[in-house]
Amino acid sequence: CGIVGYIGKNKAVPYLIEGLSKLEYRGYDSAGIAVNIGGEVKVYKTKGRLKNLENIIDMDMDTVLGIGHTRWATHGAPSDLNAHPHTNLNDTIAVIHNGIIENYMEIKEWLMHDKKIAFKSETDTEVIAHLIDYYYEGDLLRAVRKAVDRMEGAYAIGVIAKDEPERLVAVRKDSPLIVGLGENENFIASDIPALLKYTREILLIENDEFVDLTKDSVTIYNSLGQVQERDIYKVTWD
Ligand code: GLU
Repeated sequence: CGIVGYIGKNKAVPYLIEGLSKLEYRGYDSAGIAVNIGGEVKVYKTKGRLKNLENIIDMDMDTVLGIGHTRWATHGAPSDLNAHPHTNLNDTIAVIHNGIIENYMEIKEWLMHDKKIAFKSETDTEVIAHLIDYYYEGDLLRAVRKAVDRMEGAYAIGVIAKDEPERLVAVRKDSPLIVGLGENENFIASDIPALLKYTREILLIENDEFVDLTKDSVTIYNSLGQVQERDIYKVTWD
């Protein structure tokens, strides 16, 4: 169970795979990535080792925005379909999530019965993608905030949207999340080892904080939407 994300000037996939490999120590049963490429969100995911994922992707993919996940199943068996990222119906939003959405069943029933949404997986996580889509009106951060308002549980989440190829949004509650600062590139990860090959400048994200990343900026907000200042933590160990 680990998450990574990249937005920047370089190709995203090598970082996503390198980062996930450094999070393997956390344990996992499946792995996946989603990228924004050519104006589309594309998802690649598979049960089993990272190697299996590497076999179905092109490391040189022409994309500068992506998220990656290793899953430790809590809701739904380890399988290709239950692997993250999860998307909404027409694949305009992709989500990775570590943790558990405690009230997912109630949200899922509302989405299925009132909104006639057909689910693709058995995970708690999939409700997040559909909820964000439900609230999305062109501003990903705003949609994530509204979705999170309805969620109970523990989560570190990374989200990308087809229509916002220059934006990565993340949120944290009771699951680990950090940001790595680069030059014309920024990163998210569950833990520092995922970032060390790329940067030693880290922002530690606190509970109930939202992060809005572009390749040149990182803005942290609290649950009230107020901008939070954060000192840069410089990693001095290897
Ligand atoms: N609860 C989610 C699932 O079962 C996320 C598990 C994780 O943290 O990897 O898919």
